[in-house]
This record gives sequence, C-alpha cells and structure tokens, in this order.
Amino acid sequence: MYSDRALVIGAGFAGLLAARVLSESYGDVVLVERDQITADTGHRPGVPQANHPHALLARGADVLDTLFPRLADELADAGAVRADLGSDFMTRLPAGLAPRDFLGLSVLSMARVTIERIIRRRVLKLPNVSLVDGVTIDGLLHDRGTVTGVHGTRDGEPFTDYADLVVDASGHHSKLVSWLAEFGVHCPAPMIANGHLSCTSRLYHVNHDLKLDWKSACEITQAPSTKRGGSVSTVDGDLWFVTLLGAAGDVAPTDEDGFLAYATTLSCPDFAEIIKTATPASPIYRAGNLRSRWNRFHKVPNWPRGLLALGDSVVSLNPVHGHGMTLAALNCATLRDLLTEHDLAKEPLVFQNAVAKTAQVPWTSATTTDLGWSTRKLSLGTRFAQWYARRVFEILPGNPKVYRALVRVSQMVGHPAALFSPRVVWRVLSGSHPRARAR
Ligand SMILES: Cc1cc2nc3c(=O)[nH]c(=O)nc-3n(C[C@H](O)[C@H](O)[C@H](O)COP(=O)(O)OP(=O)(O)OC[C@H]3O[C@@H](n4cnc5c(N)ncnc54)[C@H](O)[C@@H]3O)c2cc1C
Repeated sequence: MYSDRALVIGAGFAGLLAARVLSESYGDVVLVERDQITADTGHRPGVPQANHPHALLARGADVLDTLFPRLADELADAGAVRADLGSDFMTRLPAGLAPRDFLGLSVLSMARVTIERIIRRRVLKLPNVSLVDGVTIDGLLHDRGTVTGVHGTRDGEPFTDYADLVVDASGHHSKLVSWLAEFGVHCPAPMIANGHLSCTSRLYHVNHDLKLDWKSACEITQAPSTKRGGSVSTVDGDLWFVTLLGAAGDVAPTDEDGFLAYATTLSCPDFAEIIKTATPASPIYRAGNLRSRWNRFHKVPNWPRGLLALGDSVVSLNPVHGHGMTLAALNCATLRDLLTEHDLAKEPLVFQNAVAKTAQVPWTSATTTDLGWSTRKLSLGTRFAQWYARRVFEILPGNPKVYRALVRVSQMVGHPAALFSPRVVWRVLSGSHPRARAR
C-alpha cells in the first residue's frame, strides 16, 4: 500500500539534499518539517545557526554541483562572493600572517539562508518531492524490527505518515536515540568533545570607505594560549558577517559596547574598525557551548530496517572548520552511490557504515582542536596530533607550500597524508628547532 515512498524528517540542509537524491530512486518523496516554511522562507526558528556565517568547503561545493548543476552561478547571481583561499583571505595565526599567494582554490561566501533557500526552491520543483510543514515528529512507527513511518503533531492534532524508508535529517537536536530506545533499540553513548567554543555574530553593511585588501579575514584560536579569534566574510553582495570567537568558555558579549571591546582585544585591528565604522544590519547573536558529538549508529547491531540517519543527526562538529554542510553533502553523495546497488531500506547499516567512514577525518580534525582545551589526560595519539598541528601552524607564515597543503586538506580536497609528506615533515621539524628558527 505504501510502496515506493520515502519520508525525510527535517527540511534543513541535509534533508533537502537527501530528498533530491531519493527523488531518483523513490516514486514519492515527502519532507516533513517542524517550521512553517515556503520555497522563499528566510530565517526560521529550526535553524538558529543561520545567524552565523556558513562557509561551504571546496569539496562540498563540488558535490553540490553534481546534484544541482549551475548552482554556483545561481548563488553568484544571489550575491555570493567568490574568494581565493590564498590571495583573497587574510588569515592571522598566533605565529603571524599566513601566506597570501594565489592558490587557485576558492570558496563561495554567502549567508546560510541564501544557500538553503536556493536549494529548497530547486528541490521543491522536483515533481515527486513534496513538503509537509508545521509538523513536529515525536517518534517512529515500527513493525517487527522495521520502521514503517512517523508520528507527531500538527496544529495540536495527531499526525501519522507511512513510508518504505524514513530518513532522519532533524539535525543536531535530533531525538532519534530516544525514539529508537522506545522500541528496544539502544545506541552506544555518543562520543563528545567539548572545547566550550562560542560564536557571537552580527551582519554589517559594507563600509566602502574602509580600504581592506581581503574579501575574508580570520584570526584563529589556538590551544592552549589563544582563546579569542574572529572572522569576517563578505556575503550576499554588500554585507559583512562579523563573528567573534571564544574558546574554553571565553564568550564575546552581545551588547554593542561589549562586542566592540572584545574585538579590540584581537591582534587584527580590522575587526574593531569594521564594528566602529560600519552600519549594523542585524542584532548580535550568540551560539554557545559548540561541541562535537558523534552518534555511532553504525555500531547498533539491531538497527531497524527502513531507517537511515544523516547530517548533524549523526555527526555534529564544532563549526570552526566549517565541515557541517560538506559532511551532509558527502552523506548524500554516498546515498546516491549506494542506492544504485543496494535496497538501503533492507540494508541500512551499509549506509550508516559509509557515513561513519566519511566522518572519520573531519571528526579527528575538529576534536583535536576541541580537546586542545581539555584538562583531561589525553591519549598519546591525540597529544602527538596536537603537537604536530601546533608545529604546522607555527611554520605557516614562511611556508607557502605547507600552507597550500593545509588549505587543501582543510577544504577536504586534499588527503591528510599530504601533511605528513617528507617535505612537510622536514619543514615542520627543522622549522620548530630553536636554532633553525633563529637562522
Ligand atoms: C554557529 C554555527 C556555525 C556554523 N558554521 C558552519 C559553516 O561555516 N560551514 C558549515 O558547513 N557548517 C556550519 N555549521 C554547521 C551546519 O549548520 C550544520 O552542519 C548543518 O546545518 C547540518 O544540516 P542538517 O540538515 O543536518 O541540520 P539542520 O540544518 O539544523 O536542519 C534540521 C532541520 O530539522 C528540523 N527538525 C528538527 N527536529 C524536528 C522534528 N522533531 N520534526 C520535524 N522537523 C524537525 C529543523 O527545523 C530543521 O529544519 C555551523 C553550525 C553552527 C551552530
């Protein structure tokens, strides 16, 4: 009766991409979303992180291009700004400025609401995709080890819907673990790393009187010494997104004076100069206690048939490296590949294992940063990774080639092994030696 139907919980970034992919294999795809939402909706309560900048990594942009041809042109028409990661970026590290050579690798910078709105319009134009909004899902329907649908509420009335495949894309605050426990499926405790990071952000109209030689700027935090940092990106044509970062519980205030005072403590004077001279275009928003959390669904032996999970519902990372949307896009590229060979409703763990494999590298890089602030005793491997990462960052100012390798890895277009090539290792070791530094 309900054959050939897929239902996606959450019409956020991952849910929209999943619906796009499922539309190739399922006759009918329905997105069920808690927020009231139309093709043109901008800010909405279900995605509060949209009040903060969202960089799409180069790898994520490549994946989106395969799902939505000419998306980059559409984003550029909507005001997204393309910036070369070398020549257009000013990156201030504790050891000095990163090289500014042209890298030939660029990112598109835009507000999160812009990219989501453009993708939503494209997805909702697909003839077999529909959106049911204003529905809060409260649990799963199941029958002898198979998920058969969802239940929840809409306008205070009970809501149920059935599908051959249910995909949880309800984000960082997903209740999937407790929904599964209700019918005897228990997940291992999530892995959590918390660097007690906060982002405090505000939009400003670009002040053209300020002559700046970059399109994006960032000042990085680094354990154990540099708790404060920030970023500015030019978005949607004529706006600056200014974010002040605090690690290890350091938090920028959300009042005008406090926001400016915090910015004046950064090494780069441009942040405070922008805040002093540019006209605000939004309130000041804060997102606090931004930790990394991994629900290891691939380790649940009795994971039910008919259910998949992706995006932040599975792995949600501290946003400093901007992995989230790219990971969601990679999950959906995996979904597309696997659906050509597997009936994932019957073999869901094939997908969850692939999701886990993709998460490994970004998880390691995000949590190495998070755990840098930890007072716990860390494993030898983690301490070595932190030591090596600190050394790499120390030598970056004078090493354009190492910087290029690092940027490629952090944009997920280069393999992390590139940072352990003999040439890089030699530079890291010799550059870190006090006599070599003196030379
Ligand atoms: C401060 C901050 C900055 C970030 N910066 C970046 C960045 O620069 N680059 C980057 O790639 N990522 C960034 N991220 C991460 C990024 O926002 C997420 O990785 C991404 O949004 C994940 O998409 P998702 O679809 O899994 O979840 P979301 O986009 O959060 O969507 C979840 C959806 O599910 C809906 N929903 C939730 N529960 C229910 C329910 N019970 N019933 C029905 N609907 C429900 C919500 O309303 C929402 O629409 C940042 C995150 C934060 C917090």
